[in-house]
Amino acid sequence: MINKKAIIFGITGQDGSYLAEFLLKKGYDVWGASRDSKKSKLTNLIKLGIDKRINLVSVLNDDFQKLSSLINESLPDEIYYLAGQSSVGLSFLEPKETISSNLIGVLNVLEVCRLIKKKIKIYYAGSSECFGDTHGVPATEETIFHPQSPYAVSKTSAFWLVDNYRNAYNLFISFGILFNHESPMRSKNFVTQKIVSSAVRISQGSSEKLELGRLDISRDWGWAPEYVEAMWLMLQLDEPEDFVIATGESNTLEQFVDEAFSQLSLNWRDHVETKSHLIRPSEIAISKANPRKALNKLNWHAKSKMSDVIRLLIKYHENI
Ligand code: NDP
Repeated sequence: MINKKAIIFGITGQDGSYLAEFLLKKGYDVWGASRDSKKSKLTNLIKLGIDKRINLVSVLNDDFQKLSSLINESLPDEIYYLAGQSSVGLSFLEPKETISSNLIGVLNVLEVCRLIKKKIKIYYAGSSECFGDTHGVPATEETIFHPQSPYAVSKTSAFWLVDNYRNAYNLFISFGILFNHESPMRSKNFVTQKIVSSAVRISQGSSEKLELGRLDISRDWGWAPEYVEAMWLMLQLDEPEDFVIATGESNTLEQFVDEAFSQLSLNWRDHVETKSHLIRPSEIAISKANPRKALNKLNWHAKSKMSDVIRLLIKYHENI
């Protein structure tokens, strides 16, 4: 068992809850930060049966004093910064909140860690959205960023912040460039949850129509519980590095929809309608990854590909 302490910012979310479960299994003392631990939904932590095993603290990302007290009092070995508005679609409607939530909190964490004596290892949740459209070329850690949404701009700005603090103050901060990863813990407004939950309801007799935007966009979908291990592995290295974390397999949204309905013995064309109001102002056509560095340096690879992810999501939705 590992005798270490970690703080997870954004612990109530999909990745935060799986990461907390993963670290607890390893023997960590886990602290979790939420904007309001009294009001926030602890559903994910409760589902995993770990809500009582975490030291939960309320901190607003722009409250430097509170954030500083949390880090100085708990003196963690590792900090995982996962908090922030995480929906690309919503970021077009709430650009200010998205940019502020993905940037100001981590800036405050970096400032505290710069001034503290203890060498704390930090992980920041970057995103494949930073790449924008690479026109079918698989993105690596060397690929130039070209963000195409307020969400992507926020994550790319955070990358430069991380890079600056790493170079200027020699802080240990790794920037994980994670491609899409799914699970039942993901909120209902994400398209993968919307597709699978609707397909399951239709297979159980619902006559609803599933409304979607563009079906020709291509994404790399993995399984979230596997991705949190990659975050941890990054912080076990001696030096901070950035990593692309993905399955390496991209599929179109149409293929995702087809696979979900096929696994339920349905023809998606009978149940899906495309709607122009669901098309975003700017959309990445093809998102493709080359996760070779993660395999070489972290010995990590994604075990679950798109069809496995869909099978696991269907199993969950059939049993709720
Ligand atoms: P979630 O949205 O599930 O969780 C993020 C958490 O951040 C929430 O539980 C919430 O906690 C907090 N949060 C939400 N909105 C705000 C806000 N406006 N201001 C401050 N805090 C907020 O995200 P995931 O777990 O899926 O992802 C974790 C991180 O990884 C995110 O930063 C996301 O952008 C990034 N990422 C995710 C990918 C994915 O496919 N899932 C892919 C690439 C990157 P609370 O309400 O308790 O404060």
